[in-house]
Amino acid sequence: MQQLNANSLEAFWMPFTANRDFKKKPQIVTGASGMYYQMNNGHRVLDAIAGLWCVNAGHGHPKIVEAIQKQAAQLGFASSFGLGHPLAFEYASRLTSVAPEGLDHVFFTNSGSEATDTALKLALAYHHARGEGQRQRIIGRQRGYHGVGFGGLSAAGMGAHKKQFGMLLPGAAHMPHTHDLARNAFSRGQPSHGAEIADTLEQMLQTYDPSTVAAVIVEPVAGSTGVLVPPLGYLERLREICTRYGILLIFDEVVTGFGRLGRPFAADRFAITPDLIAIAKGMTNGAVPMGGVISSNEICQKLMETAPQGTVEFSHGYTYSGHPLASAAALAALDVYVNEGLFEHATLIEPVWEEHAHALKAVPAVVDIRNIGLLAGIELGEEVASGKAMAKKVYDFCFERGVLVRPVANTIVLSPPLVISEAEIATVFSTIAAGLKTL
Ligand code: PMP
Repeated sequence: MQQLNANSLEAFWMPFTANRDFKKKPQIVTGASGMYYQMNNGHRVLDAIAGLWCVNAGHGHPKIVEAIQKQAAQLGFASSFGLGHPLAFEYASRLTSVAPEGLDHVFFTNSGSEATDTALKLALAYHHARGEGQRQRIIGRQRGYHGVGFGGLSAAGMGAHKKQFGMLLPGAAHMPHTHDLARNAFSRGQPSHGAEIADTLEQMLQTYDPSTVAAVIVEPVAGSTGVLVPPLGYLERLREICTRYGILLIFDEVVTGFGRLGRPFAADRFAITPDLIAIAKGMTNGAVPMGGVISSNEICQKLMETAPQGTVEFSHGYTYSGHPLASAAALAALDVYVNEGLFEHATLIEPVWEEHAHALKAVPAVVDIRNIGLLAGIELGEEVASGKAMAKKVYDFCFERGVLVRPVANTIVLSPPLVISEAEIATVFSTIAAGLKTL
């Protein structure tokens, strides 16, 4: 058992954490395997959130571990600035072979935040290359989350994340979100009502002048703000409006990519092709930080053909873009996803997941249950107690009984590894039900 003393806890300023509370009662993970975390006090916890929406193949998959170890011994670092190493090229070509048609190029980053910022910069650079440099506005959505960089944060619609940071990017505007308890509570999969919410984009374009708008960025399913599933027909309309006005559509698939919805990308599940896809998390099964942007051929070609020969076509990149260990992990993760049939497993088990999730409808505190793929959000109302306080209590209750869930405001969010079994699904939901009933 590894012990930490008060001093060793102090130096690490933890991200998105109430540091002072945590350090009074630290929860320390020392190992993980498959569906389970191992805590330093010997406690074993069923991980119903796949790390942070990333460990899609389960923790410590041996093939991914082996690939990283092998690569570390062979080549631990090589810059991608004007140099190359084979795995980054091999992975890029493997990845684009499973990406939607017409998106055949990938720009590597190290995180989801860098991926969304890169996607936004690509959109600006593309319009600049086309002689439409006046297209600088970015349109996001309320309750959108696109990471913590200045670009992604500006496009995002979570007020709580913004208030410490001043003005952010000028020219970012926000469409309404699609969450509608009155019409859509307890929908299974995509809700029926709300396609027309996409038309607010068109109304905004009348205000802003469409020729000033570079891109619209949305998560196909908003994850971090409580699993908001797009109403039927909504994304189609967004796509249609963007195309009509020459605006790029960016899907932030940091959560939905790599099988979360039973397909490589949400773009496949919803049969909509965006111009750019931001990815991270499941890309390496969370084992090494990596993100990226998958780009349409049109965007890549435009930047390639308009830059003078011998010059950099896109003045952007990271020291660790296409890092050898990340590339090795990503290649191995994609092989595992495909060869072990994890997307198919997610699809097969989705009805079981949905059935168990919706069984919680009987609990009085529950005001909505949303699900798609292996995602679920259980929203708690205010009748019994504060929904937010209850979600936190349910988290504590479940954790003590060996199940890790994620409280996000008044919603309990779930996104297990895709390898979850029927028995584990039953455990997750029966523990949550017990928590809700007890509290
Ligand atoms: N976009 C979405 C949709 C996310 O959920 C996240 C992370 N939760 C990010 C971007 C940012 O990713 P990262 O934390 O790797 O920067």
